[in-house]
Amino acid sequence: MPPALGPNKIPIVDKNESAKPVCDAAKIATPAMQQYFIHKEKYGDCLLFYRMGDFYELFFDDAVKASGILDIALTKRGKHAGDDIPMCGVPVHAAEMYLQKLIVSGIKIAICEQMETPEEAKKRGYKEVVRRDVVRIVTPGTITEEALLPREQSQYLAALHVMGDIAALAWLELSTGELIASETSAQGLPALLARVSPRELLIAQHTYESLGGTPWFHEWRDISAIRADSQFDARKAERALTQHYRVGDLSAFGAFSRAELGALGALLDYIQLTQLEAAARLDPPKQESQDASLQMDAATRRNLELTSTLTGERKGSLLHTLDRSVTAPASRMLSSWLAAPSREVSVIEARQEAVSWCHTQTNLRDQLRIALRSVPDMERAIGRLSLKRGGPRDLQLIGAGLGQAVVIGEMLRSQQMPETLNLLREALGGHSHLAESLTEALMAEVPVRAVDGNFIRSDYRDDLAEWRRLRDESKRILTVMEAKLKKDTDIGSLKIKHNNMLGYFIEITAIHEKKVPETFIRRQGLAGSLRYSTPELNDIARKIEDAGTKSLQLELMIFEELVAEVLRSAGPIVKTARALAELDVYNALAERAEEGGWARPKLVSEPVFEVSAGRHPVVEAALRRNHQEFIANDCTMGDAARLWLITGPNMGGKSTFLRQQAMLVILAQIGSYVPAKLATIGLVDKLFCRVGAADDLARGQSTFMVEMVETASILNQATPESFVILDEIGRGTATYDGVSIAWAVAEHLHNITQCRALFATHFHELTELATSLPRLKNYHATAKEYQGQLVFLHTITEGFADKSYGIHVAALAGMPKPVLIRARALLKTLESGHSITEKNITPDLPLFTQIAPAANKMAERLESVDVDGISPREALDILAELKVLIGEK
Ligand code: ATP
Repeated sequence: MPPALGPNKIPIVDKNESAKPVCDAAKIATPAMQQYFIHKEKYGDCLLFYRMGDFYELFFDDAVKASGILDIALTKRGKHAGDDIPMCGVPVHAAEMYLQKLIVSGIKIAICEQMETPEEAKKRGYKEVVRRDVVRIVTPGTITEEALLPREQSQYLAALHVMGDIAALAWLELSTGELIASETSAQGLPALLARVSPRELLIAQHTYESLGGTPWFHEWRDISAIRADSQFDARKAERALTQHYRVGDLSAFGAFSRAELGALGALLDYIQLTQLEAAARLDPPKQESQDASLQMDAATRRNLELTSTLTGERKGSLLHTLDRSVTAPASRMLSSWLAAPSREVSVIEARQEAVSWCHTQTNLRDQLRIALRSVPDMERAIGRLSLKRGGPRDLQLIGAGLGQAVVIGEMLRSQQMPETLNLLREALGGHSHLAESLTEALMAEVPVRAVDGNFIRSDYRDDLAEWRRLRDESKRILTVMEAKLKKDTDIGSLKIKHNNMLGYFIEITAIHEKKVPETFIRRQGLAGSLRYSTPELNDIARKIEDAGTKSLQLELMIFEELVAEVLRSAGPIVKTARALAELDVYNALAERAEEGGWARPKLVSEPVFEVSAGRHPVVEAALRRNHQEFIANDCTMGDAARLWLITGPNMGGKSTFLRQQAMLVILAQIGSYVPAKLATIGLVDKLFCRVGAADDLARGQSTFMVEMVETASILNQATPESFVILDEIGRGTATYDGVSIAWAVAEHLHNITQCRALFATHFHELTELATSLPRLKNYHATAKEYQGQLVFLHTITEGFADKSYGIHVAALAGMPKPVLIRARALLKTLESGHSITEKNITPDLPLFTQIAPAANKMAERLESVDVDGISPREALDILAELKVLIGEK
């Protein structure tokens, strides 16, 4: 089967594909290039990072493409078929930085490593080339490098499988091994995908064919990698999963549906395909029911700026305002809680209990924060080690983390805590032996890569100490030898030096050549200096080298032993790491609650919403930075008032009020306290937030179309347990159409959907609805005119707004005066019950177009003025003339 290409030109190579026959180019190439062509052909459109010593080199089109993106020099190396071979390269030690740039550009990279040393190749035959193999394909959803991953955000690889009306999504974070599968209806799929927000999405050919063209799927198209339908086969998946987890059947992990199994199988297959030999450590798959969490579609998440702002930044999002955790894994956990707040009272109350306990423990909370600060990211370190990408620093980090877990466990030992925290405390212990052996083995300062050596303490193993002693002893002997040679030859500047090419050598300045004894063997002559060796020096150099090699080999062996020991406990270590993260989250939520004077909400199953003195956490924080105060507001919805219709001036605070209530629901359902004095919140199953309007030109949808699509999806999906926020419906079309649509939507929400809803509008006509819809109540954002100025009070009060103040706001925004004058005049005409027709706007009202000629005349008059040649009296006269021109007497 030919490699399938995803929409982003992802080469998909079947792992069972046998090596292809050597392509035509390879037949005429040198042996080294032949090997290159074989790999390049197999990994199609991947950029091939071809290891040559200390560099990854790229050739031909790969080199041209990469040099452009990476901004590195494009050179040439040798010839092929008579032409120069374009080439560029990146040093191995800096490869991560370059990978990052390529991944961001949506490019995949096949890493082809040297599988033996040049010496080993030579042993096989003088002309043999070093054996190389592709060891990994780097794709956006499978990166694990610390430098390429955001510390505080999970990066998921997901697989989507649709079977009829059922859609299953499985998602995996390779860096931590987290693996979840969930099933939903075709209708619920957009919300599920929005929640997971994968970096890369595997999708079956047939699914892509049916979804690829739909507008909502547009944002996932670029990250989709199309896979053959057979990769999603449930039976094949079951076999692969039972084999991977070495279990008889999967029932211990959950009762997975066929669609879920298919998605899980496709994930596993892709991991094996991209990670090749490396065995990733994956959690047993966890099954999640969509009924267990609060559902929100992509528009709602975006509009509420939950984890990032509309401009894509973390700062300014709800997560940023909320997150007081001190470790990256806790930030990731909090972010995933915000992405999927719970709908289970038991889960929410258990979390609340933990937060409440931390809230009361002011001193301990501070101590815990300090102790947690030095807990490293053990989950990702385990991930790197299991994929053979870890180093001594990862071991050290795990040792330190496990040690710190014991310390924190001790801090909580005698505490009377809620059950959730007791369970976390239990998960902290049990690693003292491993933590001790890692501390005993590793030096205080260790390198990132094991091959750099010098990370195992000498006293850890006698043989290592012995080799190091020999190496150091020999070095000491060299110092003695250097002093002796200096004396014997009478060359004061004689030195024993070392470089990679010559090894150890004696160097003298050329002027002393005559003094060089016959026993010296000349190695190299440079301008001004000469280099020699002696049998004695060679002998010691060999001893030093042997001792160095032996001690490094021994260190590498010990490293492998320690890694194996750590990986044997990978499951429990990850459990401890997650317990620490969860503890950090509870402590942080308590800290945030204390800092903001937040209250613990009461969760009930009836569809009520009673908040007194509620605040918008993000706007409040922003105002506080400017030393301004946020005005708290109440909001009570229930059987008597299910639908709030909110009018009021622009800038009055309507949008803020709407979003604030949605955020309170989310915060309450993740188990957090909320910014309010008191709050009782009936569990919400789906939250919808349609705020403002924006053209989605990329998807070919106008502002109004986007607005209608989002509104339609709310009306089709909301249930009586849902919570809906609608800000400005029907504004993107003609007034009558708009009012009619808004009217009908309000009626539908009130009579049919019967959910809790907040509806902000500038259509004052809608306030009439209160007379026909008993559970609709009018509220308004208050503003006052004071000395001709508009003052926003930001309080939401019962009743409707008497006027819009739109022109006042336009004045505040700096609209040109003539336009304001004209607008006021037009408004007066409309308010007196007249429509704007040619008849009643001329001649007494100057037309808009008449402003331009006036401005031109003013400009002409001003140009004719000789400023230096007129008296103050004349200047005043000219000013009066200009006022006449503008129409003001
Ligand atoms: P528009 O109709 O133009 O969308 P709006 O009525 O929705 O306006 P908001 O955007 O909610 O008004 O609020 C405007 C600004 O007023 C906010 O950016 C915020 O700075 C301030 N504001 C809103 N609510 C409050 C409040 N309760 N306390 C203090 N300031 C507030």
